[in-house]
Amino acid sequence: MSAVWHPFTQHGLGEPIPLVTHAEGAAIFTGADKVGGGRRIVDAISSWWVTTHGHRHPRIVAAMREQAERLDQIIFAGWTHEPAEELARGLRAIMPEQLTRVFYSDSGSTAVEVALKMALGYWQARGEARHRILVLEHGYHGDTIGAMSVGQRGVFNRAYAPLLFDVATIPFPAAGHEQATLEALARACVDQHAAAFIVEPLVLGAGGMLTYPPAVLAAMRAICADAGVLFISDEVMTGWGRTGTLLAGEQAGIVPDILCLSKGLTGGAVPLAVTMASEAVWDAHFDADRTRMFFHSSSYTANPLACAAAVANLAIWRDEPVRERIATLATRQAVRVAALVDHPRVTGVRTLGTIAALEIGGGGDGYLAALGPRLLAFFRERDLLLRPLGNTVYVMPPYCIGEDDLDRVYAAIGEACDAL
Ligand SMILES: *Cc1c(COP(=O)(O)O)cnc(C)c1O
Repeated sequence: MSAVWHPFTQHGLGEPIPLVTHAEGAAIFTGADKVGGGRRIVDAISSWWVTTHGHRHPRIVAAMREQAERLDQIIFAGWTHEPAEELARGLRAIMPEQLTRVFYSDSGSTAVEVALKMALGYWQARGEARHRILVLEHGYHGDTIGAMSVGQRGVFNRAYAPLLFDVATIPFPAAGHEQATLEALARACVDQHAAAFIVEPLVLGAGGMLTYPPAVLAAMRAICADAGVLFISDEVMTGWGRTGTLLAGEQAGIVPDILCLSKGLTGGAVPLAVTMASEAVWDAHFDADRTRMFFHSSSYTANPLACAAAVANLAIWRDEPVRERIATLATRQAVRVAALVDHPRVTGVRTLGTIAALEIGGGGDGYLAALGPRLLAFFRERDLLLRPLGNTVYVMPPYCIGEDDLDRVYAAIGEACDAL
């Protein structure tokens, strides 16, 4: 029996854990020599939302290979290297110009931890006792203690609840209730003497692919600006074209004070994250006094191989028709998902860019809905990598996925609606 302990996996259920040997484009493959192997599986969730251009994009692979020949790893406190510098320049060129500073870390969770620490450091430096973080109901920002603290409480973090810090939760802007959200936010900014508001723009991913309109995002941004509360945009999932634009925030015309990016930053090839900050946030830490520096690091901060992969990702965005691919995929998904709208067991159909989601058999039971594992097995038997959130089925493929593979995905979802 394997010694490997997998994430978000109940090993006691004895569910199969396939051994993946290689991947290409929108497909992953299990080894032909293994039991149950030799299968081609459609990666319909981009290997948990990270793979944007497809697996093993030649340019990203080449960039990492070339970088490995030169410099593998170097301490980043007090030292720098070309891939990190080039990536920062590239990000500055395509991200909102108000975000002038780039801080590296390793994952979406650490990008969020960094953002929260930057926000608190900002207020500390200004001599104002602001430390309350405002969060949106159903939000998800990662699985470290700080990231869990600002995320939705529930079965995922019940055991750790005593360690999580207090936040003020703003109700999700469900259709018809947007005004209540905005009023609650405006009130909390003042009453809580808030330091920052952290939010996933336009779509709450792990919370169930819950969408809300750009106008609400723009209004929330304006409320925080008026109150002087830092606005942290967690674009870890939504960034890099997922919602149809490079950043989801673009659709609302907003620029945050602090921006978190990870997942598609390297095209999904290797772990890397950035937290981009405004000049004001940087300035709060800029001083000749060493006690005011930004106290955060991890061993592999700005790993050169990861930075090289991200530089290649930027080149792909610049040189290849990525936006056209995204638009094409969005249209293809919208057509297929529209065919399911009238199915009697389907509710809540929604699409946003390359993301499509729906509920099978009504909602309400949450992540541990009994239907979830049955759906997972149903899709696995059909060689599809889909991982429903409870009875919310969503599709979020790499941008290179072909029409045949999409047909297979949607045919299986249709079948699941009939059969389960
Ligand atoms: C996935 C995700 C994270 C956490 O990223 P990890 O790399 O898994 O730590 C944070 N925020 C959002 C919105 C995410 O979707």
